[in-house]
Amino acid sequence: MAHTHIHLHPAIDHGMARGNASFNGGTLQCHCAIDPVIVRVDSQCAHNHACGCTKCWKPHGAIFSVVAVVPRDKVHVTSNGQKLKVVDNKATIQRHACEGCGVHMFGRIENTGHAFYGLDFIHTELSRDAGWAAPEFAAFVSSVIESGTPPDLMPMIRARLGEIGLPAYDCLSPALMDVLATHQAKMNGVL
Ligand SMILES: [Zn+2]
Ligand SMILES: [Zn+2]
Repeated sequence: MAHTHIHLHPAIDHGMARGNASFNGGTLQCHCAIDPVIVRVDSQCAHNHACGCTKCWKPHGAIFSVVAVVPRDKVHVTSNGQKLKVVDNKATIQRHACEGCGVHMFGRIENTGHAFYGLDFIHTELSRDAGWAAPEFAAFVSSVIESGTPPDLMPMIRARLGEIGLPAYDCLSPALMDVLATHQAKMNGVL
């Protein structure tokens, strides 16, 4: 039975746009009608995924965010950067949000010792450019409960993710968890 009545995020509820292998970036724009923040990204994204954590920006009514990474040196604020403010200076990922509309334009890791240092987190739904790599998995699925999703809905949410074709994980994907563990092992001197 298809669980099409479960709305996870507009970018995945009705099938996902397929990525274009020759795509190499585009612009992101916040939701302000006047003086929007514009960010240029000179790269295709990687590890695009649905995220159930409580920190990622998501559009109104969505249970999940959709978030991907790009090299931080490929991210350039080109218009109205004065409207950006870091949501939480103490968070591992410093999310730069527009003060006007609340949209997060990019998230940046400033800790040079972090496994993901050098990558910025972006939401490709803020771009009108077609060709961004499609979501590949769903991360932090159980965490949607922390945002107020009734636990009873979890079997249906997991079933819906399966129908869409996104493997559901309660942390990051195995590949990314391996990257984190490898980094930690090297820091500890055991690898
Ligand atoms: Zn804005
Ligand atoms: Zn998240």
